[in-house]
Amino acid sequence: MALETPNHTQTVAGWAAYDSSGKIAPYIFKRRENGVNDVTIQVMYCGICHTDLHHVKDDWGITMYPVVPGHEITGVITKVGSNVKNFKLGDRVGVGCLAASCLECEFCKNSQENYCDQIQFTYNGIFWDGTVTYGGYSDMLVADHRYVVHVPDNLPMDAAAPLLCAGITVFSPMKDCQLLESPGKKVGIVGLGGLGHVAVKMAKAFGHQVTVISTSPSKENEAKQRLGADYFLVSTDAKQMQRGKRTLDVILDTVSAKHSLGPILELLKVNGTLVVVGAPDRPIELPSFPLIFGKRAVKGSMTGGMKETQEMMDVCGKHNITCDVELIKPDKINEALDRLARNDVRYRFVIDIAGTSKL
Ligand code: NAP
Ligand code: ZN
Repeated sequence: MALETPNHTQTVAGWAAYDSSGKIAPYIFKRRENGVNDVTIQVMYCGICHTDLHHVKDDWGITMYPVVPGHEITGVITKVGSNVKNFKLGDRVGVGCLAASCLECEFCKNSQENYCDQIQFTYNGIFWDGTVTYGGYSDMLVADHRYVVHVPDNLPMDAAAPLLCAGITVFSPMKDCQLLESPGKKVGIVGLGGLGHVAVKMAKAFGHQVTVISTSPSKENEAKQRLGADYFLVSTDAKQMQRGKRTLDVILDTVSAKHSLGPILELLKVNGTLVVVGAPDRPIELPSFPLIFGKRAVKGSMTGGMKETQEMMDVCGKHNITCDVELIKPDKINEALDRLARNDVRYRFVIDIAGTSKL
């Protein structure tokens, strides 16, 4: 596979992991010239998703080193290809997980590019020209405009960045479970991290009663007072879990590590749905009894389509939903990854790539 093609002439400064030690170091590489369907983006901010951590450590066994992570990107357009009509110079935009899809299959035609079987991701993917894609831990990005969204004017670029992955990943299953149009449901969010905390804010904004299911008792006050959760269950406390049995309509599981779905399924009412979005490196346990005794369903969901991603950004603009972020300089990425691995972040690290914030 070619790592560079003739039109990859633009030199970019970024940060990459070179091996599974997971340590990030500066990396200079090339990006393609801005094509007719592309926009060039000066990256301002990039969130640190747990998926970045899975990749830098090669948790899933698929990492192509050196890997430049980052798929929660906000920035400003500096070049526009001749076919691009919906973006102009200076626009505030965002890029998430998707870099390319076939544009022809039933999923692409139906605004569900995220389920195209030729999907290529913003980093650690192979673009159509055969090159490996590099993500947002870098000062400039060339993106096909079909995978770029507008950031609403009222959302700050730093606190909006994690919406591009964390936000859409929880918005899409909520929409799929009709949580946007039918308020008053009882919704559970398992794992109060990057994905989980946005999920709580969204579910509250959509008018639901929200229960956080967490391994961290220390997050209870914040979950209730700051994020607006109604109830908080410590998942390691059998009594609390017992009290929560058969209370919830829908649960989103955002947990990044191996765990059992059994006790979580018990929290669902009969006919309830559990959507798994967390992606641990080892299989999660799925005991059959809580499934069959409650006629419950378990399904998965992966990021969202582009139309839906723009809708999510607009909905966040309307409800003023942003992420709670810890802003860092690029030289603190390794420290941030270590803290993320230890579950020590409230609730998303965001890298100030352009150095525009006072840190
Ligand atoms: P994160 O910020 O680290 O949050 C994960 C949360 O899971 C933690 O805050 C913690 O919450 C809980 N947790 C961690 N270890 C646990 C354990 N051993 N047992 C039970 N709970 C544990 O991660 P994130 O960025 O939100 O991502 C979460 C997962 O979603 C990752 O696996 C990521 O790769 C995946 N992901 C999937 C998609 C998709 O498209 N489906 C998109 C983005 C990310 P508590 O302290 O509250 O327990
Ligand atoms: Zn992500």
